[in-house]
Amino acid sequence: MIVVTSDAECSLLIDGQWIGTAATMPILNPYSGAVIDHVACAGPDHARQAIASAERGHIAIARLSTWERAEILRRTAEMLSQSAEIFAATITTETGKPITASRKEVARAVNTLTLSAEECTRLNGETIAFDSFPGGEQRSGYYIYEPVGIIAAITPFNDPLNLICHKLGPALAAGNSVILKPAEQAPLVAVMLGKLFLKAGLPAGALNILTGYGEQFGDALVADSRIAMVSFTGGAKVGEHITKRAGIKKLAMELGANSPVIVMDDADIDQAAKACASGAFSAAGQNCIGVQRIYVADAVYPQFREGLIAYVDQLVTGDPMDGQTDVGPMISINEAERMEQWTAQAVQAGAKILSGGKREGAIFQPTVLENVPATAAMVCHEVFGPVVSLFAMRDIDQVIAASNAEDYTIHAAIFTRNITTALNTARRLKVAGVMINDSTDYRLDAMPFGGANRGNMGREGVKYAMREMSHTKVICFNMA
Ligand code: NAD
Repeated sequence: MIVVTSDAECSLLIDGQWIGTAATMPILNPYSGAVIDHVACAGPDHARQAIASAERGHIAIARLSTWERAEILRRTAEMLSQSAEIFAATITTETGKPITASRKEVARAVNTLTLSAEECTRLNGETIAFDSFPGGEQRSGYYIYEPVGIIAAITPFNDPLNLICHKLGPALAAGNSVILKPAEQAPLVAVMLGKLFLKAGLPAGALNILTGYGEQFGDALVADSRIAMVSFTGGAKVGEHITKRAGIKKLAMELGANSPVIVMDDADIDQAAKACASGAFSAAGQNCIGVQRIYVADAVYPQFREGLIAYVDQLVTGDPMDGQTDVGPMISINEAERMEQWTAQAVQAGAKILSGGKREGAIFQPTVLENVPATAAMVCHEVFGPVVSLFAMRDIDQVIAASNAEDYTIHAAIFTRNITTALNTARRLKVAGVMINDSTDYRLDAMPFGGANRGNMGREGVKYAMREMSHTKVICFNMA
């Protein structure tokens, strides 16, 4: 067992002080089931205290010059890089993500904070051509970006560090204060990162952290009129609840998806199979842009199926702390049981298991299905687990129509050697990103990232998030 923090029970950060609560909640290792730590459980009063602290913190951080904010972000990134191994071990211990993937997540988080430091000094407005309309001839001016104020940042368990950095980095860079509510299952890295920010010189109150159960204090936090923006990453159900409670304020909703991949008959089939095996099963499929449905041209379906199964059968499942493990446990036994039930339902409705299909504790084997009816949960809901479904494709138009009918989409992918097919399909898919000859789960932290259709509320990717977390102010001189 790894003791990740000695005092995590004092896990609420308010006004620069770490405080505890009478009630605590256990944090479990999903692989062993052991309790690894306890954290404090915030209530509505803590939410109100954190908001008062963030009001003071906002004044303090907005007063800092951009180079001072950039320095704090850069110092935090450097300290995170120096502590990479303990952060990676903590991610693995509290989420069950394989250690190799956790190390990658820490490296990405360092990059996200470094990007935030860089973009901090580049949040520039523009001059405005006031003389472009009659009456404005004697006017001159420009606009600047100003921070919105206090941002409530709410994050999920699956990338518990980098997704926090995608909120804290841009929010602080743009001069906002933040109240962070990390995932219930994986709050320890958030507490550890908060300590680094304070050590790096972040003013008290600029970052506040509330651990505990979201439903116990979430409404008091998001509904408060002093909160200028709620930036949420998580499932659509909680997102919808928060949207209703938040009222009139800025909202960013980074939700889930049901990502399709199209494999054309002219594709490099081995490349496609390898990329899909990785994209469907990394982080045990608990990835908002993980590969969920693969549509393969009839002519190459048998070849692709064989190639995919061969790659999937090579995946090593087991102890996530073992450097050889590719697929660890899901976040909980309940989630692995959900996979078991959804697979059984699909099989009952006519699906065939090509690989996997079994559960052991919180581990659900990497599973490949075919002949899954379109009405099965496995196809029409976000899977968010280690199961992928294969479909033989006769008509690409039907696949594009099915993909475009999804409520919440983020990425889609197409494998083809024909540039016209690639670009035409990319144009027709109603998604926020199309990966050509790559899995849907490719993401660069500097690129615009978000959803499409009903999931289209806000963009992350540091530079874009900074604009979402700012408002423009026009300065106009009348020289008449
Ligand atoms: P979740 O929606 O269950 O929880 C997300 C966060 O909301 C947690 O911190 C939780 O404690 C909090 N919460 C719950 N009830 C709340 C309330 N009433 N008020 C305020 N906060 C509340 O999601 P999860 O299971 O942690 O994560 C999985 C989901 O996240 C998947 O749907 C996945 O696709 C999505 N996700 C999206 C992205 C993205 O960038 N689009 C990235 C990662 C995960």
